[in-house]
Amino acid sequence: PPPRPYVGRFAPSPTGPLHFGSLVAAVGSYLDARSQGGRWLLRVEDVDTPRIVPGAAEGIVRTLEAFGFAWDGEVRWQSAPSQVAAYQAALDALIAAGRAYPCRCTRRAIAAAAQHTSVDGAPVYPGTCRHAPPPPGPAAWRFRLPASGDPADTVTVLDRLQGAITQRLSRDVGDFVLKRADGVYTYQLAVVVDDADQGVTDVVRGADLIDSTPRQVALQRALGLPTPAYLHLPVAANAAGEKLSKQTLAPALAIDQRCRELVRALAFLGQQPPAELAEARLDELWQWARRHWSVARVPARRHLVLTEELTGT
Ligand code: GLU
Repeated sequence: PPPRPYVGRFAPSPTGPLHFGSLVAAVGSYLDARSQGGRWLLRVEDVDTPRIVPGAAEGIVRTLEAFGFAWDGEVRWQSAPSQVAAYQAALDALIAAGRAYPCRCTRRAIAAAAQHTSVDGAPVYPGTCRHAPPPPGPAAWRFRLPASGDPADTVTVLDRLQGAITQRLSRDVGDFVLKRADGVYTYQLAVVVDDADQGVTDVVRGADLIDSTPRQVALQRALGLPTPAYLHLPVAANAAGEKLSKQTLAPALAIDQRCRELVRALAFLGQQPPAELAEARLDELWQWARRHWSVARVPARRHLVLTEELTGT
């Protein structure tokens, strides 16, 4: 049979410079796509405007270019008017189907009324506005989950690397926000709309997003959209077990050390790159990486401590 068409993507949020953790996601998604003859798209997830750092997106795009990534087509921006219209259209469809409702609860009111915490560690929304519509005024829009005994409330995702992830959404997540009261569409809604709109067949990203996946699958089902295959890569953690991010002061990537950085990312992903690759030409390094990419060698873990050997410190 002919190989199935493959469309992958890398979808960074421009909240800071590209760091080692995001490089790992870029490398994994790129190699998984290219080793299968697939397309690979670059999408800047700048939907959450208040969190965006000016210039960060341009910096990420330049860094990816300098590291030798080549994406198909133009960079997609979530802030583009066409995308914003698509998010609103999806929200309108959910409202029309009775799957979204307005909510004016404050954070404090939710914290006070919540019975337990979600997989994200936040209070699970107790459904206050689901039962009693709020007074008019600026409101957030929430997704109405199926009732907690309804089989549709339980979502299982079979991750290509991490195995089955099952959540009972009403217990583990609660009715989640699709559009905030300040008018910002949330990551969960935007990512589902964009992945479908761009024909993404395979999502390869960091395991910090694995707990979001059942929510995204529930939204796909409510919107009648296909569910892509998922592969969640281990996330780089420091010795204290914290995810490497801007917050834990992960250093920006050194462009003049790009082959060393890529070799570290490949080693982190279990690909066992020969040490000489760090001194090779960039195109030779990528050729080796494409030829040798093996998902079976990626550690099936959510977190992986960056050892000194890998960080080169
Ligand atoms: N924009 C998200 C992030 O940078 C990733 C979204 C995704 O890959 O689904 O954390």
